[in-house]
Amino acid sequence: MSPGRISPGRSLVVHLEQELPHDMRVAIAGGGLAGLSCAKYLVDAGHTPIILERQSVLGGKVAAWKDADGDWYETGLHIFFGAYPNVLRLFQELGIEDRLQWKEHTMIFNQPTHPGTYSRFDFPNLPAPVNGITAILRNNDMLTWPEKIRFGLGLIPAIVQGQKYVERMDEYSFSEWLKKQNVPARVEDEVFIAMSKALNFIGPQEISSTVILTALNRFLQEKNGSKMAFLDGSPTERLCQPLADYVSDRGGEIRTQASLKEMLLNPDQTVRGFLIRGVDGAADEVLTADLYVSAMPVDPLKVMLPESWRQLDYFQQLQGLEGVPVINVHLWFDRKLTQVDHLLFSRSPLLSVYADMSNACREYANPDRSMLELVLAPAKDWISKSDEEIVAATMTELEKLFPDQIPQPAKLLKSKVVKTPRSVYKATPGRQKCRPSQITPIANFYLTGDYTMQRYLASMEGAVLSGKLTAQAIASAHPRSDVPDSNNSVQLPTSKPVTNAATA
Ligand SMILES: Cc1cc2nc3c(=O)[nH]c(=O)nc-3n(C[C@H](O)[C@H](O)[C@H](O)COP(=O)(O)OP(=O)(O)OC[C@H]3O[C@@H](n4cnc5c(N)ncnc54)[C@H](O)[C@@H]3O)c2cc1C
Repeated sequence: MSPGRISPGRSLVVHLEQELPHDMRVAIAGGGLAGLSCAKYLVDAGHTPIILERQSVLGGKVAAWKDADGDWYETGLHIFFGAYPNVLRLFQELGIEDRLQWKEHTMIFNQPTHPGTYSRFDFPNLPAPVNGITAILRNNDMLTWPEKIRFGLGLIPAIVQGQKYVERMDEYSFSEWLKKQNVPARVEDEVFIAMSKALNFIGPQEISSTVILTALNRFLQEKNGSKMAFLDGSPTERLCQPLADYVSDRGGEIRTQASLKEMLLNPDQTVRGFLIRGVDGAADEVLTADLYVSAMPVDPLKVMLPESWRQLDYFQQLQGLEGVPVINVHLWFDRKLTQVDHLLFSRSPLLSVYADMSNACREYANPDRSMLELVLAPAKDWISKSDEEIVAATMTELEKLFPDQIPQPAKLLKSKVVKTPRSVYKATPGRQKCRPSQITPIANFYLTGDYTMQRYLASMEGAVLSGKLTAQAIASAHPRSDVPDSNNSVQLPTSKPVTNAATA
């Protein structure tokens, strides 16, 4: 047990010490990527997870559904990066790495001053950081030479001092940081509005410098860090299902439509059970386990915290974290709008990134008709608007992206809007110090989720790594003697200790 945690009381300590090593029944509330990853690494370590997911499908922010025509729609357009070692390793462990469709190593931006045209950052097949620097130097559409030089000079402290500097810059927004480093304002307008919206659904005036500098670090330091892949179908079927199968084939349990209603406590403040809300008039049910994990997003967790825990500093820090709104728009057209098989940065004030999924994703492929998936961000002024208003505004923006096709001759066949009022935590300056570790002060209670402290940002990689870290914390506190040592310790991709620094 870690020092400083609320003691589970003498009887519980004795119970744990006498019974060990045995497999721990671990109740996990939340079946997003963090909860599923935690469950996967717990079964690897010989423990028995029970996932409780509120929705009827797994996946949380990667969840997807089929409409009446059999077409998929998703919570978000999701891109995998070369700089996602834990996600890539997970795909390998599940034997599904062929499901990642890697795209050309490039970043493509729309050109607002020349509607319908693109500007590209092409990464040559050279070692990092030469490939990234070459990509930037070769692009002359977006930045002038003096602007590139001023930006390069501004980056010197981050390059020389590394991640410590990047962490310290959490007190500045990216706009403030650019000004501080004397980088011309046009660099922000041309490149970083788009990048900031893509990373956290907010603009550079709001986003913490740590977020952008961390991403730049990864993209420049790793040869394939910025290389992108699309999943070959819906994340629910192609990623969450194999994870769920892996867990249940090894003795774990996955329950959907099982919503955590309340955390029941023992007199010593440890968790006595998870109260699950009864469905369709059924009575509520108490699930008891040896250990308990919240894999819920931070917003519902904050609401559900027992009164007696709220005064603890550890839980108080969560008040500084809040999900940011975002909207995912799907538009099906009667013809092909583009042949581009990649992610595009729209550089539109309304939209962030988008892709023609009929080109980019095998299961959504259609040689004759485009299906655009577009992320609308920042979404705070749009989240309460009607789907019709959102689609109409998106179509107006598309006139600039596809001037030869929209409004004529392309016809919109149907649309689907998915709103997430509270998605990933809003990474404004000062948030790093609010991100909790996976180990809580409550002896039998852990946290997992992309918002918890791990060296990646709020992302699929962050969610998968957080799940692994939680499983690792549990496995090292409760090792099994009859499973290989490597599983008890749940190996991390690097030997570096994971500290409260978000990135290595
Ligand atoms: C529009 C959009 C685009 C994105 N694009 C990318 C991208 O391109 N690349 C990338 O890496 N990341 C992207 N992300 C971020 C990524 O999806 C998330 O970081 C990640 O999926 C979070 O996983 P999680 O398990 O931490 O949380 P979640 O996915 O939110 O999972 C939490 C789960 O808890 C469940 N839950 C909540 N309350 C209860 C309860 N009371 N009882 C039981 N269960 C409960 C929820 O239903 C949910 O399933 C995007 C997100 C969005 C919204």
